Amino acid sequence: MFESTIAGSLPKPFWLSETNKLWPQWKLSGDELALAKRDATLFWLKVQEDAGIDVVTDGEQSRQHFVHGFLEFVEGIDFEHKVKMGIRNNRYDAMVPKVVDRLRLKGRAHGEARLARAHTDRKLKFTLPGPMTIIDTIADDFYGDRVKMAMAFADLLNEEARALEADGVDVIQFDEPAFNAFTREAADWGIEALHRAIDGLSCTTAVHICYGYGIKANLDWKRSLGEEWREYEAFFPALARSRIQQVSLECVNSRVPPHLMALLEGKDVLVGVIDVATDVVETPEQVAEVIDRALQYVPKDKLFPCTNCGLAPMDREIAIRKLDALGKGAALARARHA
Ligand code: ZN
Repeated sequence: MFESTIAGSLPKPFWLSETNKLWPQWKLSGDELALAKRDATLFWLKVQEDAGIDVVTDGEQSRQHFVHGFLEFVEGIDFEHKVKMGIRNNRYDAMVPKVVDRLRLKGRAHGEARLARAHTDRKLKFTLPGPMTIIDTIADDFYGDRVKMAMAFADLLNEEARALEADGVDVIQFDEPAFNAFTREAADWGIEALHRAIDGLSCTTAVHICYGYGIKANLDWKRSLGEEWREYEAFFPALARSRIQQVSLECVNSRVPPHLMALLEGKDVLVGVIDVATDVVETPEQVAEVIDRALQYVPKDKLFPCTNCGLAPMDREIAIRKLDALGKGAALARARHA
């Protein structure tokens, strides 16, 4: 009951890359960089285990960014001539690469999953960008149709997901923050694209849908959304009918009406009990209280305490303390509801 987990990313140590950034530059190159990524992965596995996190991740230490870390391994993309594009429905601009040819995987995208698998006995989750979020983070100079391009990416994600499952990964999660920016499209074809990405998998599958990292553009956007954030309402019913088993959502300190969680009947719900947009560290007591409130809408055998989003841009010591609060808060809730 109340197995704890995290959305996925964790801060990169200062000796690996720039810190407190969403798109940090690596500090090393070649073999040294490969070793530093490895060391950082082992460091965070240990920290998560010590904090009592039940379903751990590699902290995304081997990728510069959660979308482009996958795209680097895709053929048919021009990374040399990046173009400026408004992403997440023009919430902010990013320099993005371009699709210029038919897409193909160059080989394994995330061999680092094997390293994580070899060094922890806990359940291991691995995150991949979702098809809709990918096509919202890349320009198209080839397909001429966003949905067609998303389905092409879904097929590549499926190829990598099957390899991750063979590596012994227990949970494969697709990150789809774009669902909250394109709520109608999420129900129209976003979930279908996810089905293509999970085709043939027997491991647990998850989708993470959030209001973004705690960066300024997202905080400003959130302020524009009004008193109640009802984006989830548009596609949760369709997600409840889907073959995806787990849904990771924002809860603590967000304006999402908690009753929307009830729309996910039958799914495991990864409830955000840790806020990634503030450096204020939650207490275990506060974490347990959020779990208590969520229990009004999610049965206790379906509730997984989680973070609202990734912790990548945060200060590392704060992230460590937040992981600790998550583990302790879940344990407290377990003791209360045993
Ligand atoms: Zn997120």
